Amino acid sequence: MASLDLHKRRTAAVARGVSSVISSYVDHAGGGTLTDVDGNEWVDFASGIAVTSVGNSAPRVVAAVREQVERFTHTCFMVAPYELYVSVCESLNALTPGDFEKRSMLVNSGAEAVENAVKIARHATGRTAVVVFDHAYHGRTNLTMALTAKNMPYKHRFGPFAGEVYRVPMSYPLRDGGLSGADAAARALDLVNAQIGATNVAAVLIEPIQGEGGFVVPAPGFLPALSAWAREAGAVFIADEIQTGFCRTGDWFASTHERVVPDLITLAKGIAGGLPLGAVTGRADIMDAVHPGGLGGTYGGNPLACAAALASIETMRELDLVTSARRIGLMLGGRLGDLAAADPRIAEVRGRGAMQAIEIVQPGTLTPDPATASAVSTECHRRGLLTLTCGTYGNVLRFLPPLVIDDRTLERGLNILSDAFQAV
Ligand SMILES: *Cc1c(COP(=O)(O)O)cnc(C)c1O
Repeated sequence: MASLDLHKRRTAAVARGVSSVISSYVDHAGGGTLTDVDGNEWVDFASGIAVTSVGNSAPRVVAAVREQVERFTHTCFMVAPYELYVSVCESLNALTPGDFEKRSMLVNSGAEAVENAVKIARHATGRTAVVVFDHAYHGRTNLTMALTAKNMPYKHRFGPFAGEVYRVPMSYPLRDGGLSGADAAARALDLVNAQIGATNVAAVLIEPIQGEGGFVVPAPGFLPALSAWAREAGAVFIADEIQTGFCRTGDWFASTHERVVPDLITLAKGIAGGLPLGAVTGRADIMDAVHPGGLGGTYGGNPLACAAALASIETMRELDLVTSARRIGLMLGGRLGDLAAADPRIAEVRGRGAMQAIEIVQPGTLTPDPATASAVSTECHRRGLLTLTCGTYGNVLRFLPPLVIDDRTLERGLNILSDAFQAV
């Protein structure tokens, strides 16, 4: 078995702290499936964590990267600029919510996008406090670990963490007794007013639908109330759309579902068909507050990643992946709903579009059951479906198929999931 040999080499060469969901090694991937070096195939409900929304090795992405790699691979935009970087920023400024003037900057990863959004918000407001939420995930660098809620595995023994980060309760309808969005926002903002003071807040940072934290969809009205408070307080409202962005939720950006217009948006994951790229896009006056040279990085907006981003965005338009995400959402939601109706271990099906999850509990209670979630997930892997778990308690199974998956492959994946639940 080629994977077994590779696993031996990996164990001897790769740091233990970097782990993988499956122990098989990929040979090729595309069209909603992944094939390992021994010829085993998985239906892909992970998309490399919501990255390959346009599919693996999407034709336009491959062609664009191939063409660019022959022309030049790197000059550093801060040294010798190039058109691709400008074109990506123009696209992001046009695509993101808000009809005001915008600016963008490009980086290499989601965490780096969040870091920069906070830098910009602090600089523009002259304030320091950042408000974040229970169950939030914003990355693994020092500042973004501080912004992230969950200890294991992200923060444990990695401190001390960056200061001036304040965590308040999230709207989590399943677990807050169905508190309305307005009431959940009031609960959070009362704490902000009392413990930080509105005039000290540089930014309110939130995922419109939480990703690693459990695909928590806040009650309607929660996000608009936070956004309105931030406007009133002179704080920057930052939507972290790194997981939700680029058609995933059945709209270009998840903020749009509640007509929320963020001041800044952080982007990465689905932006470039698998090449590493992140971005901050937002109001020109906030973005341009920073002095020349205050933002940047050696690789940020690498030309290959930019070429891939333009090709991905073109693919999303051409194939109308917003509509595909909605169609996938209906199929996923329908089948997961049937599964939940027949299985008391499933407390809730939630999500939007092609970003759906089920939360697993001990029947008749809200007690999280991470053991069952993990067992079902492992059983799926054994039977040929790649799924991921998430959630503060590790008891949520999440489904993120590429948006180009065909109905038959999607159906095949859902059948495996249903069999796995039977077997566990
Ligand atoms: C994945 C993720 C990040 C971090 O992105 P990296 O590219 O892994 O650094 C930040 N925020 C959200 C919402 C994410 O899903």
